[in-house]
Amino acid sequence: MTASQQAHHRDGIAACFFCQQRPADPSAAYPVPMHRGLRRGSTGPLQQVSYQSGSVPVPRCAACRGAHDREESIRRYGKLAGAVVGAALGLVIYTVIPEHQATGISQATWFEMDKNSLTLMLCLAIGALVLGLIGEVVAQIVAARSLPAETQPTEHAPGHPDVRAMQDQGWYPGDKPSG
Ligand SMILES: [Zn+2]
Repeated sequence: MTASQQAHHRDGIAACFFCQQRPADPSAAYPVPMHRGLRRGSTGPLQQVSYQSGSVPVPRCAACRGAHDREESIRRYGKLAGAVVGAALGLVIYTVIPEHQATGISQATWFEMDKNSLTLMLCLAIGALVLGLIGEVVAQIVAARSLPAETQPTEHAPGHPDVRAMQDQGWYPGDKPSG
């Protein structure tokens, strides 16, 4: 335990669980959703299960919340950015396809027009799909690196003692199953 942590303990303020350095800000707590199944009427082949759900606030400081929010938006927009760039690249590839260049739209027959628009759609779709996937992978890496060295990722949250205590009482981390 560091000197600053000891100081927080003395003052009764929990340290942020993610950086273990700064004091936690109650408004910045990270909620870990939890659920547990409750069996009802255990007779017969069909067993009804109802779920109880809630969340455990894991102490977090404002700086770590900012870092987590930034990481989340990098992940979210990475795929989208990749798809947009991919579609643009698909359009560029389409315009440099020799067949297309040879076929002026003005002299094209309906069949050629159709072939052209099909090629265009294919170029856009493949470009968006491929670069969307690449964007997603790159975003994962960039997002993970965007966190300051002292800040643990949110995946770390279920390791908090309060979450573990709930697990001992039959609770599971995560949202309750749908249905
Ligand atoms: Zn922190």
